[in-house]
Amino acid sequence: MTNPERRLVIVSNRLPIILQKNDGQWTVKPGSGGLVTALAPVLKNRGGLWIGWPGSPHDADLEVPLRQASVDIGYKLKPVMLSEEDIDKYYHGLSNEVIWPLFHDLQSRCNFDSEYWSSYQEVNKKFAAVILENTRKDDYIWVHDYHLMNVAQEMKSMGSDQKIGFFLHIPFPPPDIFVKLPWRYELIHALMEYDLLGFQTLRDRRNFVQCVRTFIKNVRTQGKGQIVTLQLRDKTIKVGNFPISIDYKYFAQQTATKEVADSAWFIHENLSDRQIILGIDRLDYTKGIIERLKAFEKALEKHAALLGAVSYIQIVVPSRVNIPEYQQLRIEIEQLVSRINGRFTKYGWVPIHYIFRSLDQYELLGYYRTAEIALITPLKDGMNLVAKEYCACSVEDNGVIILSEFAGASAQLHKGAIMVNPYDVNSVADAIYRAFEMSREERQARMGKLRQSIKKYDIFWWVDSFLDAAFTEKLYRFPILEEYDYSTQVPSTETNGNSGVHAE
Ligand code: UDP
Repeated sequence: MTNPERRLVIVSNRLPIILQKNDGQWTVKPGSGGLVTALAPVLKNRGGLWIGWPGSPHDADLEVPLRQASVDIGYKLKPVMLSEEDIDKYYHGLSNEVIWPLFHDLQSRCNFDSEYWSSYQEVNKKFAAVILENTRKDDYIWVHDYHLMNVAQEMKSMGSDQKIGFFLHIPFPPPDIFVKLPWRYELIHALMEYDLLGFQTLRDRRNFVQCVRTFIKNVRTQGKGQIVTLQLRDKTIKVGNFPISIDYKYFAQQTATKEVADSAWFIHENLSDRQIILGIDRLDYTKGIIERLKAFEKALEKHAALLGAVSYIQIVVPSRVNIPEYQQLRIEIEQLVSRINGRFTKYGWVPIHYIFRSLDQYELLGYYRTAEIALITPLKDGMNLVAKEYCACSVEDNGVIILSEFAGASAQLHKGAIMVNPYDVNSVADAIYRAFEMSREERQARMGKLRQSIKKYDIFWWVDSFLDAAFTEKLYRFPILEEYDYSTQVPSTETNGNSGVHAE
């Protein structure tokens, strides 16, 4: 079981706070989101600590506001101060121009600049130094995500022998892709310095183990199930898959409130007698927004019954807007939306409603609650929490989800979703039509299964199972989690001869 005596130290690129400067004074507000919600009680109970970059310039004086915020939230916050150059090369550079595209299988988008790697090493060293200064020998250190893969190695080279776990929120690529990284040996060895490595899915975990075998001789793998061990000389490393989730109860309860019901009603009011197809994504090329728009266009071409009967609402949340590639993506999306609307709009009906901003909570939940179809088709995604949030909020028993095979969520949700290959525009088009036609009974049966599963494996389960795995030797007692199985996805011929819609 989770060892209750040990203090927990969370390390992530950003502290879970929102910083604001008012009249020359910095103020700190606690951040929100599933990860913070799940970790906060554990951190409070154990008198924990969160270490990360506060998101402010190097010279900002944050001592007093951070101390105040620590009192308010019940655990300590410790900043790692980074220079503008650090942010430029470690964060925008190595993290987001190399690791992000490579780990999403998009190596042609990588910018393998060697200065980025030096900066990544330096910043990981800065994090390691702050951890060492602020922790005790028996603390458990839990490092998060792709920005900080070298931290354990840097800590060990500074003399630490603390227990350190790591969770990767994004996918891990197969060896054929990982091999492209100029710093592949360094990175794989750095990851082997952790005591426990957590991945989102079995697919990611297998990819990692295969990469280890490719690059390091004499590694022995033992065990089967959710967590296996790798033995390298005298060191044993636990490697598991822990699909991250959401605070199901919170979403289900909030969605049932009057405010959200009103918001849902308002959204559908002007679109009555039409099914709403919903897409919600951060602006990112991994989300497959361009391919999805083309699939929607194809659906309108192929299935006349959809004309005037569906409204596709695509919400794009601004992200990384200073990076030229993201600016270009926005232009492409907007041109495509205009072209499709220009082609199909008729009196009283515009096929695509496009929103480029972030939503407030009531609006977001209102869209989740009222949309009949969620179109979630990333080209690759660590998990995709929007998929799980949509299911948790689908309280009107009429929601159906079309989901990419390449989202981490597919392992858990494939039995209730309509599964698609997001690159196969024809198949996604047919899936849209299939969802549109689906009876209420079938929607209810499918969504019921999905909601049960998300309720059981929620964000609190995720935290507990990772921490359990960190402290137990009895790895056999972890259940084997479901995996997405391509062999069960038989192409269907129900809509036309060459449709690739997958039957469950
Ligand atoms: N989200 C948000 N503001 C919005 C729309 C969505 O904060 O206007 C949230 C959404 O609730 C979800 C997250 O953004 O928790 C997106 O997570 P996901 O795993 O789907 O994708 P990511 O952006 O992490 O790649």
